Amino acid sequence: MKTLQTYIEQAKTIVFLGGAGLSTESGIPDFRSSDGVFKAVRAYGVPPETLLSIDFFEDYPEIFFDYYKKFLIYPGAKPNKAHLALAELERAGKLNAVVTQNIDGLHQAAGSRHVCELHGSVYRNHCTKCRRFYSLDQIMAMQGVPTCECGGIIKPDVVLYGEGLDNSVVTDAIRSIREADTMIVGGTSLAVYPAAGLIDYFRGKTLIVINLSPTPRDREATLCVHEKIGEALSFLLD
Ligand code: NAD
Repeated sequence: MKTLQTYIEQAKTIVFLGGAGLSTESGIPDFRSSDGVFKAVRAYGVPPETLLSIDFFEDYPEIFFDYYKKFLIYPGAKPNKAHLALAELERAGKLNAVVTQNIDGLHQAAGSRHVCELHGSVYRNHCTKCRRFYSLDQIMAMQGVPTCECGGIIKPDVVLYGEGLDNSVVTDAIRSIREADTMIVGGTSLAVYPAAGLIDYFRGKTLIVINLSPTPRDREATLCVHEKIGEALSFLLD
């Protein structure tokens, strides 16, 4: 932990790349830990990659939204120490961007301003026909499949399996990663591509991985911390 503090103190420009593990301390389960969402998905009889695919959304919207509303939406969740610490680093002028695979909006809720949401956000929803915008509250208030006044199905602005990432978000993320001298990767299994591959754009000298379980990139990290990320970064809030 002392080494982690020293690296962060010495850094001039930090970029953060994170995933679902960042929000477990806020009560949102991740996908690949033992109590992760995948366990619940078994109840539907299809693997999560199928359930959360664009084809499944189009073919079985009722089942998609049943799962989505029950297992991916946590309106009561609050930012935890990790989100707050990263927002603090940005305010202090040390962090240039949070690049996240999360769709829960908790970085913004913590005060982070430059957030590259690689996989979109549950807070934005659009009609697939007329493109009208709907808030999360609006689609949660609709029974079953959320439907627009025009008759079109409303789709969350969440990148589903089989869909591409938003180019402008990826470009922004790559630019931020290239600018940084220090990269912190945390709360991600680094199993989902292309997000996990963004580490390859890092040209700085210090790569820090903070993750409960080992990741495929641990060996190339300058420092690996196998702790809860909220605990590991909490010194930034003191
Ligand atoms: P993942 O579930 O594959 O991996 C999460 C990783 O975080 C695991 O390796 C786990 O050991 C680690 N972890 C869990 N709690 C931690 C903690 N407190 N501190 C440090 N590490 C912790 O998640 P992923 O790599 O982000 O990939 C899953 C995909 O699912 C992403 O594409 C993401 O969009 C989506 N997802 C998002 C949310 C969310 O928005 N909160 C939740 C579930 C899944």
